[in-house]
Amino acid sequence: MLVVDDHPVTRRLLEVQLQREGYRVLSAAHGREALERLGEDFCPLVLTDWMMPEMDGLELCRAIRGREWDSYVYLILLTARDALDDVLTGLEAGADDYLVKPVHPMELLARLRTGRRILDLERTLKERTREIARLAVTDPLTGVYNRRYLMEQLPRELRRARRYRRPLALILCDLDHFKGVNDTLGHKVGDEVLQEFTRRLGGQVRQGVDWLARYGGEEFVFVLPETDLAGCLALAWRLRELVAAAPFPTSAGPVAVTASFGVAALPATDAAHLGAEALLAQADACLYQAKAAGRNRVAGPEGGTAGRDEAGNNPWPSRPPRPMAGRPPKE
Ligand code: GH3
Ligand code: MG
Ligand code: MG
Repeated sequence: MLVVDDHPVTRRLLEVQLQREGYRVLSAAHGREALERLGEDFCPLVLTDWMMPEMDGLELCRAIRGREWDSYVYLILLTARDALDDVLTGLEAGADDYLVKPVHPMELLARLRTGRRILDLERTLKERTREIARLAVTDPLTGVYNRRYLMEQLPRELRRARRYRRPLALILCDLDHFKGVNDTLGHKVGDEVLQEFTRRLGGQVRQGVDWLARYGGEEFVFVLPETDLAGCLALAWRLRELVAAAPFPTSAGPVAVTASFGVAALPATDAAHLGAEALLAQADACLYQAKAAGRNRVAGPEGGTAGRDEAGNNPWPSRPPRPMAGRPPKE
């Protein structure tokens, strides 16, 4: 907390008394010094005198209320002025409480406890709000971003990439024959597979730059700022290998899983001004190709540049992706 009083003895007495109660106490001799101290070392509790040189307690209250701080500042005016008008003026200036000198030490401590209750309440509310905001953009099963976040954030990423003429790419992936996992091993095991999928693949991206969202049931999107088509294809290829390399551990034992990947990148000369939906549709068209060509593979635009097979050959016909017209036929 911060104690503000121009009278050195009063200030010192308050400091000692409050320190004895466990408060970390900073002090200032007038309002201006108090503002400087708060700026350097924020205190959520301020106990201030009214009459002081340079900047008095009322001005300090108004100045504190006029600014944004890390948290609410609980302000107590402690003054010799005891007229009703003074009390009203003090509260009007933004003080939360008004105490008349001399104040009984027990009363001062009780008033400070009230302030702390208010501050605790504010902290709890802020934490809850943050948690609610996080949940609103999180897929509950896998913990990755949800579709809502994707559709809000991808247009922003696109705008940023365009403004700074930076590349941007995305990968759309879909687990192969996932319905079969559910049908033979049950929905719970299916859920475990989805969780392992995001655990395995989520660690492959650059923290704080790339991000992963669940697009639908067993479809996920990687958004890759600062990444061109070649980089994106290389990553998709690595992801494909990572999925297929080792079976997924589940409560029903190891389950072999593969996934198919479609990629899309913002073209260097972005005359068409592709939107998020269009970019996703491009990736979806490539995903369709990967599925139709046998699954467990990567397909990119321009005839599937990444369409290497296990032997490193390119099995892809050189044709542009077809517009998405539905899911691939089942084999
Ligand atoms: P393909 O290789 O063509 O992608 O075949 P698929 O079986 O993976 O595709 P399909 O779209 O036919 O089936 C997707 C399945 O994913 C159907 C649905 O029940 C299942 N699914 C979607 N969301 C969840 C989920 O949250 N948990 C589980 N366990 N299954 C889910
Ligand atoms: Mg699937
Ligand atoms: Mg699917």
